[in-house]
Amino acid sequence: MIDLRDVHKTYRLGDISVPALRGVSLRIERGEYVALMGHSGSGKSTLMNIVGCLDAPTSGVYMLRGLDVRKLDEDALSDVRNRFIGFVFQSFNLIPRTRALANVELPLSYAGVPRALRRDRALRALAAVGLADRVNHEPSELSGGQQQRVAIARALVTDPALILGDEPTGNLDTSSGEEVLRIFARLSEQGRTIVLITHEEDVAAHAQRVIRIRDGVIVADELTEPAGRLA
Ligand code: ADP
Ligand code: MG
Repeated sequence: MIDLRDVHKTYRLGDISVPALRGVSLRIERGEYVALMGHSGSGKSTLMNIVGCLDAPTSGVYMLRGLDVRKLDEDALSDVRNRFIGFVFQSFNLIPRTRALANVELPLSYAGVPRALRRDRALRALAAVGLADRVNHEPSELSGGQQQRVAIARALVTDPALILGDEPTGNLDTSSGEEVLRIFARLSEQGRTIVLITHEEDVAAHAQRVIRIRDGVIVADELTEPAGRLA
């Protein structure tokens, strides 16, 4: 599914260059649940942005589902993101003063899905994260955990094969975080591929595989026995 070969990413700030990834090679197969761990500044988000086709490597190759991402233009990239990838961020990134239903419908609007179908799918996605009774609430009327579940519904509504979470439990209290992790576990059981960034060991323990990155280099890549589940 994901195949990175000697990927480098260097940010340039004026005449300073910041090497964020320094030769990352990595394969993630369809259906894997992977945790990506590392200290702040180690390159996790940079790697996720590349995997999510939000940013391009400075050098190296990224093959996604057998497609060489370098060869895709902006339109093709946004199509790939919209069809195959669901993003969940630490800060939810919901549109303010807009009810949950409309937030979740948004990716389907971009994809040109007709209104009635859009509504139906958004309602189902919200029900799947336990928010059937909150569809008309705006973000400010929801708890952090509920907002993150809206964000997950938005990521799921396009039925993506790949889910990318950048510290999705980072801003949540313990029980909301656990709720989010239960949803991720269910998505994994459905056969979706998940890459979850975290710096908490107990969060990473939910994944089947833990990849550790330090200073832009992968330093460990191990299979785990996921918590609460028979491997
Ligand atoms: P993490 O997510 O692990 O905290 P990042 O991938 O965000 O790490 O950052 C890796 C390194 O790249 C850091 O040194 C960071 O300061 C730098 N960096 C990240 N994004 C940018 C950017 N847009 N411009 C310049 N430097 C950046
Ligand atoms: Mg980050």
